[in-house]
Amino acid sequence: MKGNINVQTEDIFPVIKKFLYSDHEIFLRELVSNAMDATQKLRTLASMGQFTGELGDLTIEVKPEGKKLSITDHGIGMTADEIERYINQIAFSGAKDFLDKYKDVQEQLIGHFGLGFYSAFMVADKVEIDTKSYTDAPAMHWECTGSTEFTMKEGKRKERGTTITLHLSKDCEEFGEERRVLQLLEKYCRFMPTPIHCGTESYWEDSETEKDKDGNPKRVEKKRDRIVNNTEPAWKKKPTELTDEDYKKFYHELYPMNFEEPLFHIHLNVDYPFNLTGILYFPRVKRTIDPNRNKIQLYCNQVFVTDSVEGVVPEYMMLLHGVLDSPDIPLNVSRSYLQSDQNVKKISAHISKKVADKLEEMYKQSKEARQEDSTTQPEFEKVWDDIKIFIEYGMLTDEKFCERAMKFYLFKTTEGKYYDINSYQDLIKPLQTDKDKKLVFLYATDSTEQHAYIAKARQKGYDVLLMDSPLTSHFLGLLEQGRINDCRFVRVDSDVVEKLIPHDDNIPSKLSQEEQDNLKPIIEGELDKSRFTVMMESLDSDDQPMTVTQNEFMRRYREMSQNSGGGMGFYGELPESYNLVVNTNHPLIGRLLQETDEAKQKQLVRQLTDLALLSNGLLKGEALTEFVKRSVSIIE
Ligand code: ADP
Repeated sequence: MKGNINVQTEDIFPVIKKFLYSDHEIFLRELVSNAMDATQKLRTLASMGQFTGELGDLTIEVKPEGKKLSITDHGIGMTADEIERYINQIAFSGAKDFLDKYKDVQEQLIGHFGLGFYSAFMVADKVEIDTKSYTDAPAMHWECTGSTEFTMKEGKRKERGTTITLHLSKDCEEFGEERRVLQLLEKYCRFMPTPIHCGTESYWEDSETEKDKDGNPKRVEKKRDRIVNNTEPAWKKKPTELTDEDYKKFYHELYPMNFEEPLFHIHLNVDYPFNLTGILYFPRVKRTIDPNRNKIQLYCNQVFVTDSVEGVVPEYMMLLHGVLDSPDIPLNVSRSYLQSDQNVKKISAHISKKVADKLEEMYKQSKEARQEDSTTQPEFEKVWDDIKIFIEYGMLTDEKFCERAMKFYLFKTTEGKYYDINSYQDLIKPLQTDKDKKLVFLYATDSTEQHAYIAKARQKGYDVLLMDSPLTSHFLGLLEQGRINDCRFVRVDSDVVEKLIPHDDNIPSKLSQEEQDNLKPIIEGELDKSRFTVMMESLDSDDQPMTVTQNEFMRRYREMSQNSGGGMGFYGELPESYNLVVNTNHPLIGRLLQETDEAKQKQLVRQLTDLALLSNGLLKGEALTEFVKRSVSIIE
């Protein structure tokens, strides 16, 4: 029989080639999935008693042979009538309109119009189907040369199932090479539920007959069929069947090029109101995040679909690794459609809830562990530094997650202690409430560089947090804007210690206003005015004579604009500016004012300002050399 493939198809083949070109390797996924479906259907029929014959070996074979590539299954096969219905009468009506509308969105085509099988024409000039149904119907042979004409006649196939043979077009002969085909199977079919055989592989075994010269069995090389997939991936198993080791092993199976261990995992298993299975792994989150490695892989019934999961999971979750498998995620649609899909929204919300649950549970366990034994560090604290960026990112971008995370977010102090937000507030309340009843959180971003300031604050009995993530400025903003009532975060070097947390106790100044006015220009004369503002403060006479500080708000704005790469460009272009605070009660400042020898006065100013810069880590290069020289000469 000869015939024409249904309506409006003249335009379809060139379109298949052209529009799907960039992604044409997916033809193999489509054909192997069809083979897999046919096999699963047979299994289902057998389990319902509608197929009573031998199932036999159901392995699918993919056979690259130079200019040809064939895919053979032992599934239900097709009758002439079924070929007519499923292959010939493909639902192309309306396809043209559709194409015109979505010219750019090639991926939408596949699947949507049952193009699965026809994607074979992306790589082949001629396609043959040899099939025999599990019913008594005769075997059929169908072929088509990429025009709209096909031939269909009785075939010679003896065994149940289907072979699709592709005669590869000239520019697609790579798909006749075993290496290339293996690569594709590895990508798309790695976890399909029926074994897939492609080529052979060698292995070594003790010979049963041959012996080596010591009389031991000889090691001989043997060949066996290469099975490319793991039909029972971990995410399909029950968590109770798996040990921690199994999860780690599976992680490395997913990412063979990654040698780091994941920190912990979450096994997802939902069957109502949508279907979802999967395992998400928490990796160590680096300060520099490389979004291209170890991405979450999305599967549909164990068939790989994509590793770009934007829209399916909240943005911050993309820092996680692992797999998600759901037949309820519409696959071949645009991203914007995906984001508005109700099922996808539910799935995304569910995943983020599960992640929050897991973290909260770990936090609770660690709290209990702390109470039982305060000497060993609980698990959650151990991984905290590695997951903190992930959690801050989540809190900044997902309000619901933020609400949950307020319970388990941990503050780490510069002493290396961890507190949840509530207990930390209780800890600092007595000493760190300012005169306006605001709770002042002191923090450092680098405990080495800001050491002098941390030490000062500690001396006063204050506690200092270590907030060293790249998201700190944004994150503190979030906490201040209502997540914690009446609070403010102040970096330890943003002011002199007395003024970090202003209380009501004013210290009277030993210098009169006039004396201060006289002194100020003398100091300013020795400084770069575009970077430093001189401020006279009446501080404790035991405090340093001069201190360099940097205004909290200016600094944070600068940091935020740098992180966000523009937007707040104006602040980004501001030069770094500092305050030089002069302690008007320090005896050396008094001496400075009384010094009548101008050269000596200058030298003293320089020495004092340099010391202040030095403890802020700002004295470098030539200025530092100069300082050392001057100091030596003073000692002499
Ligand atoms: P889809 O798989 O999305 O339904 P396809 O064009 O890939 O669309 O396939 C159309 C139909 O052809 C399938 O639904 C199935 O009924 C039939 N078919 C394709 N390949 C096979 C196969 N290997 N064995 C049995 N039936 C098949």
